[in-house]
Amino acid sequence: MHQVYLDHAATTPVKDEVLKAMLPYLSEFYGNASSVYSLARSSKQAIESAREKIASLIGAEPKEIFFTASGTESDNWALKGLALAHQDKGKHIITSQIEHHAVLHSCQFLERNGFEVTYLPVDEFGLISLADLKQAIRKDTILISIMFANNEIGTIQPIAEIAQLAKEKQIIFHTDGVQAVANLEIDVKKLGIDAMSISGHKFYAPKGVGALYLKNGLGIENLLHGGSQERELRAGTENVASIVGMAKALDLACQNLPNRQQKMLSLRDKTIKEISNNFPSAKLNGHPSQRLPGNVNFSFPKIEGDVLLMQLDMRGIAASSGSACSSLSIEPSHVLLALGLDKELAKGSLRLTFGDENTEADVDYLLATLKEILS
Ligand code: PLP
Repeated sequence: MHQVYLDHAATTPVKDEVLKAMLPYLSEFYGNASSVYSLARSSKQAIESAREKIASLIGAEPKEIFFTASGTESDNWALKGLALAHQDKGKHIITSQIEHHAVLHSCQFLERNGFEVTYLPVDEFGLISLADLKQAIRKDTILISIMFANNEIGTIQPIAEIAQLAKEKQIIFHTDGVQAVANLEIDVKKLGIDAMSISGHKFYAPKGVGALYLKNGLGIENLLHGGSQERELRAGTENVASIVGMAKALDLACQNLPNRQQKMLSLRDKTIKEISNNFPSAKLNGHPSQRLPGNVNFSFPKIEGDVLLMQLDMRGIAASSGSACSSLSIEPSHVLLALGLDKELAKGSLRLTFGDENTEADVDYLLATLKEILS
């Protein structure tokens, strides 16, 4: 059976070059980077080279990169750590209704602990309004956290403008860059970003490794307490092999970014055009142009997204829907509801996210399969 993986926003396979770069740090160079002998120095040097590489690829300085165990940890650390460190200036935070749960649930935790959070709405395309943001800013606002690009609908927010507003009001600006890093050109200094979350497994590095970019001098509380790793801010013996893999994967992705973007854009736009032509009642979710190059998201009226996913899976296609199983029921996505979709339409959605190994033949197979299932 034809196998087509169209869920790169969920995770990506580890590339051969990435695995090759990692392997020595799982075997011969196994030293603990905190130890003093030469075996340990190899690990330490590998971590520092990875830090330099990642910093250079996003326009940061090496000392501004902190390694974590996931995008989730980076988001939690940014939200909780920055809020705690700056609470003497105020206890108000601004975010959006369509953030990943790593941000939303961190905000809810902070609300339970004395902070106030404003959740900005989005328009029908998933964009926040700068006027809304301006209006939401208060004297006690200490942190704005708005994602770079959304994981479900791919909408890219006006990051430079948000950063500018935050800077004018001397408010820290964090962005969840998990879906954007490696898919968009990002220079944190040019954009004016103070903190950004990164996750390796979204760009062909292994699962369970991430990073947080933190502008030099920005105070942050520790999330994890223990040893003195990561300049005493994030304790825990470093996952050397995965850190090396993440740097290699980001390097590969960025070196080839224009070509990768061009390829994903052409697969994305062909899929959007063909689905729109063949299924006139299908509704494109997200922004028509201001969206990630590999993201397609449609809602199909009167279709259960999960049934559609199962049917696709039976024909070898891995995709994602706009709903999530929560304990006993299937809940429509908070992102699609925030766009104004009703529950039924939100449950009938299909997310297809392209990656480096996809081809036009995959799109043709997907379209033929969708026609067979939906007819
Ligand atoms: N933020 C966004 C936008 C994501 O898409 C994800 C993962 O899907 C995360 C955070 C969490 O990253 P991780 O899977 O590394 O914990």
